[in-house]
Amino acid sequence: MLANYGYKDGSGEYFISIDTDRCDGCGDCVRACPYGVLEIMEDPNDPFREEPVAVVTEAERKKIKYTCGPCKPVTNRPVLPCVAACKPGAISHSW
Ligand code: SF4
Ligand code: SF4
Repeated sequence: MLANYGYKDGSGEYFISIDTDRCDGCGDCVRACPYGVLEIMEDPNDPFREEPVAVVTEAERKKIKYTCGPCKPVTNRPVLPCVAACKPGAISHSW
């Protein structure tokens, strides 16, 4: 399933989505993120799942627009470190 973490405000929608069918809990995204946005834990949406999954930390869910800002220059935006690190392609951003 797609687990969406974030919020919307007057300026737009700011969500990081983790496809838990693809995520294998490897932790590569956690190590790649310079700002501690992601962590690995038991799946909050599926208590019966044995594999851990990546989630956005509770603290970051209300401010990822700002925390992720340095990774997202307005021009010449590179592939995001978290997205580049995720070999199964489980991470997407809405903005
Ligand atoms: S890098 Fe991808 S597969 Fe690995 S924990 Fe992060 S989201 Fe899951
Ligand atoms: S865009 Fe940057 S700050 Fe945001 S989750 Fe990805 S690596 Fe971390």
